[in-house]
Amino acid sequence: MSLTKEQVFEQAKQQKTWAGHLIADSNISQNTIDNRTPIDDSIIGKIAAGTAQDVDAAVKVARAGFESGAWRRMTPAERKTIMQRWAALMQAHLEELAALDCIDAGKPITECLNTDMPATIETFEWYAEAADKVFGKIAPTGLGMIVQEPIGVVGTVLPWNFPAQMYAWKVAPALITGNSVIVKPAELTSLSAYRMTELAYEAGVPKDALQMVCGLGEAVGAALGQHMDVDMVSFTGSTEVGRLFLEYAAKSNLKEIVLECGGKSPQIVFDDALLNDDTIDNILSAAFWNMSENCSCGSRLLVHSSQKQELLDKLKAGLKNWKVGSPYDPDTAIGPMIEKAHFDKVTHYLEVAKQEGATLVVGGNIHNTLGSGWYIEPTIFDHVSADMMLFQEEVFGPLLAVTTFESEDEAIKMANDTQYGLAASFYTQNIHRAYRVATAIRAGTVSINGFSEGDITTPFGGYKQSGFGGRDNGLEALAQYTQTKTIWLAN
Ligand code: NAD
Repeated sequence: MSLTKEQVFEQAKQQKTWAGHLIADSNISQNTIDNRTPIDDSIIGKIAAGTAQDVDAAVKVARAGFESGAWRRMTPAERKTIMQRWAALMQAHLEELAALDCIDAGKPITECLNTDMPATIETFEWYAEAADKVFGKIAPTGLGMIVQEPIGVVGTVLPWNFPAQMYAWKVAPALITGNSVIVKPAELTSLSAYRMTELAYEAGVPKDALQMVCGLGEAVGAALGQHMDVDMVSFTGSTEVGRLFLEYAAKSNLKEIVLECGGKSPQIVFDDALLNDDTIDNILSAAFWNMSENCSCGSRLLVHSSQKQELLDKLKAGLKNWKVGSPYDPDTAIGPMIEKAHFDKVTHYLEVAKQEGATLVVGGNIHNTLGSGWYIEPTIFDHVSADMMLFQEEVFGPLLAVTTFESEDEAIKMANDTQYGLAASFYTQNIHRAYRVATAIRAGTVSINGFSEGDITTPFGGYKQSGFGGRDNGLEALAQYTQTKTIWLAN
């Protein structure tokens, strides 16, 4: 039975939410961690605190399942049917899943209902549909078959900022290609992952093809990364932790690693850009959507000097529609930061920006009487230069850095002047400039005259230190979860 959002909120009030291991082995640890909601910092339930032994148990089951072939050898059409049934169950539980992400991550309920969950379900539907439409090749000699085989046991290590959606981005392509998957959700947001995995079993996904181990990164994530019998880890999270996975792989079995990491994405407004309502909405969404806890957040605004004053005036006016408030309130656009430590980090950047000489244009206030008190207004700083921390470092909170430029070359140089290369957007009416700039920016996704991460049909991932080894989304994601074999038939 699916719960309404009110029932989920009530359950949270009574501290009854739960996310545990889903390992097809009874010999698992019983330790738990309190789960708190960032909405008011109250305890809403518990999650299981996994150990390296739990990971080991899950890997043994996954390996045995993979070898048995129960999932891998199913026809792609059969896998498709099960995945479609799963997507339909998620659709039937949309409100419940949306409410779980809302209380767990402090995301505004309207976003969870209208953006996160529909995109999550669409991801499953899209990959389910692809299951029996992607296949190998035959070499022109007629003797060589080039086939894509599942990699084997796949660990997926997830971040907290889009809990359901990041689960979908990894689990859907990993499963349709026939792998045995072990999910490790972020410890701050395990609730929707737990419920979605339960629904997978209801739809008919075998328990040894999909398992979940909850708990801390240092325990569960590290154990997956270091395990000698995990064939691949697909990770989304910070660049700092992503780097650790490359070390884990190097020091263990050279497992494949794909990393989707952080960003410091530029938004460029050229002298010929139209500053209409659409442009303003897009710039504000890129900068502040999801409390800026968004890897592709357009956190640097590079603006031609001739457009700056008008743009800043319009952005200030546009921000009046961005309500800071309780995520339960359907009108709220900005909820709390995910946890106290992260709130402290973002407020530290507020102070550093002022100390480094940036000028506060709007915002900067903390709504400390609201719930947990970790609510930060969308904030814009002007006069941010390339050597300042606010220009270079991923804040992951609602702080937009404004820098002025005079020429196209200067704008491109500034856009590329960080260690990251996840996304970029820019505004111009000149088609020649549009092409020139799109090809000159070193980022995985470049949007022209709007902010977008693309959609499920288009690959998503980073250049430079924003990513490594592959792409999420699109048919391109399937490459992560398969390996290429040549079968040569001697004549
Ligand atoms: P994080 O790196 O702290 O954690 C990500 C995951 O790694 C979590 O499951 C965590 O438990 C685990 N982990 C933490 N320490 C670990 C360790 N020592 N060993 C193994 N695993 C460990 O990231 P986060 O704070 O959850 O998420 C925010 C980050 O994710 C931001 O940098 C953001 O840009 C990035 N992100 C990137 C994308 C993308 O597609 N490029 C999408 C969403 C988020």
